[in-house]
Amino acid sequence: PPPGQLPLPPLTALECATLDWREDATGEAPHSTRYEDVYFSRHDGRAETEHVFIQHNHLPERLAAWQEARPFTIGETGFGTGLNMLCAWSCFERHAPASARLHLVSTEKHPLTRDDLERALAAWPDFRHKAAVLVAQWPEPVSGVHRLILDERVTLDLHLGDSTERLSRLEGRVDAWFLDGFAPARNPDMWQPALFEAMAAHSHPGATFATFTCAGFVKRGLKAAGFAWEKVPGFGRKREMLRGHIVTLPADISRHTTPWFIPPASCPARHVAVIGAGLAGTSMAEALARRGVSVTLLDRQAPGAGASGNRQGALYVKLAAETNLQSRVYLAGLLHTRRWLARLDPARELWQDCGVLQLAQTDKEARRQAAFTDAHRLPPGVVEGIDADTAGTRAGTPLSRGGLDYPHAGWVRPAALCQRLAATAGVHFRQGEVTALAKRGTGWQLTLADGDMLMADQVVVATAWQAPQLAPLAWLPLQPIRGQVSEVRVPAEAPTLSRVVCAGGYAPPAVDGVQCFGATFAPNETGTELREADHTANLAELERTLPAHVSALASAGVDWNPSRMNGRAALRAATPDKTPYAGPAPDAERWLCDYAHLAKDARHIPATPGRHHPGLWISAGHGSRGLASAPLCAELIASRLCNEPLPLERELIDHLHPGRRLIADLVRGKHG
Ligand code: SAM
Repeated sequence: PPPGQLPLPPLTALECATLDWREDATGEAPHSTRYEDVYFSRHDGRAETEHVFIQHNHLPERLAAWQEARPFTIGETGFGTGLNMLCAWSCFERHAPASARLHLVSTEKHPLTRDDLERALAAWPDFRHKAAVLVAQWPEPVSGVHRLILDERVTLDLHLGDSTERLSRLEGRVDAWFLDGFAPARNPDMWQPALFEAMAAHSHPGATFATFTCAGFVKRGLKAAGFAWEKVPGFGRKREMLRGHIVTLPADISRHTTPWFIPPASCPARHVAVIGAGLAGTSMAEALARRGVSVTLLDRQAPGAGASGNRQGALYVKLAAETNLQSRVYLAGLLHTRRWLARLDPARELWQDCGVLQLAQTDKEARRQAAFTDAHRLPPGVVEGIDADTAGTRAGTPLSRGGLDYPHAGWVRPAALCQRLAATAGVHFRQGEVTALAKRGTGWQLTLADGDMLMADQVVVATAWQAPQLAPLAWLPLQPIRGQVSEVRVPAEAPTLSRVVCAGGYAPPAVDGVQCFGATFAPNETGTELREADHTANLAELERTLPAHVSALASAGVDWNPSRMNGRAALRAATPDKTPYAGPAPDAERWLCDYAHLAKDARHIPATPGRHHPGLWISAGHGSRGLASAPLCAELIASRLCNEPLPLERELIDHLHPGRRLIADLVRGKHG
């Protein structure tokens, strides 16, 4: 890691806050038994937040004057009950112009449980609606970044983990800091020089801070990190507090060892063309439109007619036994998709969070799963190892093997989801095949097969395995993989699964009187016709995994003859390392030249920042797990494009970078 960067913490459940509730004249208030300190006083907690953090960062005036296209960004150490952030949200609503957006970034090492959060926020009846929005999206206590879309204009990124560690890998900058956290004397571990340095490194020019404390080492630490401070009257009985602003921005050394990943400079983004209307493209279009960007979404077929067009897709991930960057990306993606779907479709018309069971079908897989549960202590709300009996009960069919249960994962109607996303206000869908893409002035020109031309400020290519057909991306390593899903009709009274069951293939609960199961996996095959041999293979896999379910359906009259089965075959795209590509498009020719030296000496790293095609982005290679990866990748690209803090840690952003393979191949001597 670059200097000052702490190692990524283990992927694990965090210890939640331990509270007792102290009564005062006005009601109960939360108190931390770990830190022996209060979260807020019920009597005057709101007034204290207003005084210390809101007024002394001058938020009313600054928000009223906010004219930038990017969101005003507030950073906080110690989210606690969220009171400060709800006050900031309310201040934004009262003062900011309609064009403004607000981005909240907050760290928390010991998140409250959902019940405690609800109980704490009940102290503020006029925040009832805001509290409900927060509680509904409250994440599982897993280290990482959790993005909550509070409303069309307000986003909250919860960076769960230690403040210093989290801020050291934040990709984004802050306009106003709320330096909170329990009193320095009760929480000395947090109030360290490295925290102030991380704040300075992630400040916009002119960023301010405010904090309730006036402790000498806090003043010295802030000054050493580049902040100027002044003492001002504290709240209530506290005589003094500190406020100040950044004077000296430190040099950004975060990508000293990986200059190719230095992000490109931002360019105008009023109108963006998104090519490809599968999950990657339609979730991209929605993410941009939500930010007020005008989007033209193009596809040669209707939205969700390609690999995202199956009747049901499993929202699931397969995590490596030992934590790696890919597992972190997929877990973050799974948790993100769930939150995003729950907001998009609370009625569950397009999806079901019925749970996904990953069966330990072989001894090898059972050992892998045991190693996984040993290495990761994730909350049971995320994933839980269960025995065969429990698995059978949860899946609704007798099972002879246990497995990993993801109780809140599930299945989605991908085609219907793509159609819903393509119909987002601000998204204009245009059917047509893009045959050429060329830079023209500050924007891009798209040529369509019918000869029509279209101009856009920026372009996102989301055409799965076909992305390299557009000239600037011809170098991008992607492979088509044919997959066929089979379907049989099931009578209404037939037993149905109550979980999606995955092993070699997957089988979701039946819908619309149809049991789906599959899918085959045929790399480099591009035919999409239905094949009886594939139905036979899918059935054999289903019989291995769910024999009791197959017989129960046979007894209910289901016709299992492969020659009479329905289904659907489509092509997914895979990258060589099976992590999707999401990010700016490298100018590959220049990379091969700028970084050619790596082939001879990988330790000698040139200072040249990665040169990219300005305003060209890629979201592709989502394979068969696009439901878990595409919405988060869309959010990542939209955030970068609109100059917001990003919803992932820096290492994960770099791990998704479309140029990673160019560098890996150079180092391995595969170019030239
Ligand atoms: N801002 C909060 C609010 O509006 O409710 C109150 C903050 S409370 C006084 C302090 C919070 O800091 C607690 O939630 C605590 O768990 C958190 N915290 C303490 N040490 C931390 C650390 N090193 N990293 C991140 N959070 C920390």
